Amino acid sequence: MSFCSFSRGEVFKNHFKPGIYVCAKCENQLFSSHSKYEHSSPWPAFTETVHEDSVSKHKERPNAYKVRCGKCENGLGHDSSLKFVPKDKVDGQ
Ligand SMILES: [Zn+2]
Repeated sequence: MSFCSFSRGEVFKNHFKPGIYVCAKCENQLFSSHSKYEHSSPWPAFTETVHEDSVSKHKERPNAYKVRCGKCENGLGHDSSLKFVPKDKVDGQ
């Protein structure tokens, strides 16, 4: 089993296999690959979370949000803060 991580953002950027992205610390389900979209930055971007309370947002500056895992408060957006779980692994749980 291999997981992608933010430290290989370029891999994530063109990573559109079906599956979910989970918190690397507590495995809380955060984002679905359905909500991922292509964009110009090397970071993955998502339009919606798996659950409404999957993440918590804290406004840092007028245009900047700090996003944390809604469960363990792990700060997202740092290297290795996300893990990708292929859909077949998710269904097998
Ligand atoms: Zn977490």
